[in-house]
Amino acid sequence: MSHPLSSSEISNPRREPSAAELLATPVEFVRGVGPLRAELLHRLDVRTAADLIFFFPRDYEDLTDRRDIAALDDEHIQTIRGQVVEIDSRSSGFGKSIVGVLVRQGNDFLRALWFNQPFMRDKFHEGQFVLLSAKPRKKGGRWEMSHPRVTWLDGAEDQPEMRLLPLYPLTEGLSQYQVRNMVASAVEQFGHVLEEVFSSELLARYNLMPLAEAIPAIHSPQDAEQLERARRRFVFQELFVLQLAVVARRWQQQIGFRAPPLEATADIHARIQRLFPFEWTAGQRAAIAEVAADLASDAPMNRLLQGDVGSGKTVVAVYAMLACVARGYQAALMAPTEILARQHAATLASLLRASRVRYLLLVGGLTAKERTAALQQIAAGEIDLVIGTHAIVQEDVQFAKLGLVVIDEQHKFGVRQRAALRQGDQSPHYLVMTATPIPRTISMTLFGDLDVTTLREMPPGRQEVRTYVVGPAEHARWWQFVRGKLQAGRQAYVVAPLVDESESIAAASVAALFERLTNGELAAFRVGIIHGRMTADEKEEAMAAFRAGRTQVLVSTSVIEVGVDVPNACIMVIDSPERFGLAQLHQLRGRVGRGKLAGFCGVLVGDELSEPARARLDAFAATSDGFQLAEMDFALRGPGDLFGTQQHGLPPLRIADLRRDQTILEEARRDAQQLFAANPGLKKPELARLRRQMLVRYGNALELSDVG
Ligand code: ADP
Ligand code: MG
Repeated sequence: MSHPLSSSEISNPRREPSAAELLATPVEFVRGVGPLRAELLHRLDVRTAADLIFFFPRDYEDLTDRRDIAALDDEHIQTIRGQVVEIDSRSSGFGKSIVGVLVRQGNDFLRALWFNQPFMRDKFHEGQFVLLSAKPRKKGGRWEMSHPRVTWLDGAEDQPEMRLLPLYPLTEGLSQYQVRNMVASAVEQFGHVLEEVFSSELLARYNLMPLAEAIPAIHSPQDAEQLERARRRFVFQELFVLQLAVVARRWQQQIGFRAPPLEATADIHARIQRLFPFEWTAGQRAAIAEVAADLASDAPMNRLLQGDVGSGKTVVAVYAMLACVARGYQAALMAPTEILARQHAATLASLLRASRVRYLLLVGGLTAKERTAALQQIAAGEIDLVIGTHAIVQEDVQFAKLGLVVIDEQHKFGVRQRAALRQGDQSPHYLVMTATPIPRTISMTLFGDLDVTTLREMPPGRQEVRTYVVGPAEHARWWQFVRGKLQAGRQAYVVAPLVDESESIAAASVAALFERLTNGELAAFRVGIIHGRMTADEKEEAMAAFRAGRTQVLVSTSVIEVGVDVPNACIMVIDSPERFGLAQLHQLRGRVGRGKLAGFCGVLVGDELSEPARARLDAFAATSDGFQLAEMDFALRGPGDLFGTQQHGLPPLRIADLRRDQTILEEARRDAQQLFAANPGLKKPELARLRRQMLVRYGNALELSDVG
């Protein structure tokens, strides 16, 4: 079958392939790879020559203490290089075996030994050069190493000055040796066509090692300092491009748009303040001041307000909305669920009893006629404040004069949604609220396009949730305590261990716990169950029964419905808490202690708990600050799935480690902001490569249209 030729091929049949085309060469065709290894590389997400060149080592073997055999001592791990001169193996009866490899360096010899690893014999052949690392010992006048770490050297690596040996991520069927060779081969074959993304001016300004130096240096560093410089370059580049994307997103959303300046005069401020039956906390006052300053400007506000559940974010949101209405503009409040929208409407209703503000709850359940009437009033400007779900924007609601949009619990408010709320170059102000504590480094990365305000303290009167780490010896006493509370008319949640496999396994784990409790500790009580395998109706029924008190205990997976608020439930029991992140445990704990009742949280641990896991849970019990817990989690476990498709859909970072590279992140962020401010849209020709890289990598995830 013949393939039609494209017109460019016809007119220029012997055109040289471009750099981009060469770098996109399938990895199979890199010298020394071939179809079989290519398939293994695919498993590592390495598909092209460029992927292989940018396949970075995950770590390095430090061969710093490298010695001549004559200079060895028996105190430290040391590395020698030598040539294999003899291989022997013998069995010593009873299935025991010894493999011995004699290695020579000039006139000196060293013997490496492996006990009961007969297969080691086949890994060596005479004449080969190897590096051996171990703590040696002298026996019968000759040095020996037992079970040394071995590096098989090839020509390229056969350099005495090599001190840091790259260790790549592997997959079954590939060895370090093979990956090292394939990477080296790709660099040799295609390295010369790589294009530097940074202009020489930017390289100098950001103090970066040029790409042509950095590629060899990261794959086979001469020394730790060179490696550090090479690594810094790639980490910086990765974070810089990400930050550029974040700035571009902000630019796209805000620049060129004007919002109505909504200054809260002293009079307006005082009138709003009087509506509240309590004093604002210092944190709320500070947050309100920041929001008020944003609103007073004609640049659209784009602010994230974060604070634990119950920290009083609604106060700040209500202030902003009323300030907006006082200046003659409409405000919209969007909640993630209808339950929460209704909850917000109820809060506003009680605050606004004595005011003339006209508000409306726009959710499902209105008749077609009511709905049409509502939309007409909104379009005519007869309604000041609209409360609804995120669907408000999708449903083509026309506002007469929209000044502010408040979004509860949704981090990603898309470009299209924003576009729907704009008119010409007029954009409303945005305030986004979240109760999900996110470490600072991560929020800088994920929400770098937002200004962030954090509410840290709780309003007075909120009940702390007392938390106990309950060891095996105390389980019986804990359940006795729970029974006491149930007998006194209270209710409890019991959360089953997190199972990260399928829904059905999770359901089985909930069911097993339910069985155990209803036949044991809670046999005398009415216990309900809820999990992901139930139908929506079954779940609603289980929730309704618990809410109404028909069941006293609810056994569930970790995914207790958002917005569940049962004031009479004051106990949270979590089985196998070591399987949860601290932030998640904190969220679970936040479901109790909401009403007048003090909350109790018991995390039940077994015997096999490790010391660090125990320390982590003790810290959880001792801390009620969700942000502190999120930072601890991050320090201990890394960013987890925060970047994942589920949460934000950003591609994973390839080399930067947000824990380790915080300083570089700060630099990259500052530099990206400056560069973008000086070159909006990155239009200059010398920025074209950076711009392309930004669009290729983050264009989809961050909904960047071709910026500018
Ligand atoms: P969030 O939305 O952050 O979870 P809310 O705004 O719903 O928290 O506030 C939680 C509870 O605390 C509400 O009942 C609210 O009325 C109350 N509250 C908020 N601020 C204060 C304050 N400054 N003093 C007393 N109570 C407050
Ligand atoms: Mg809230």
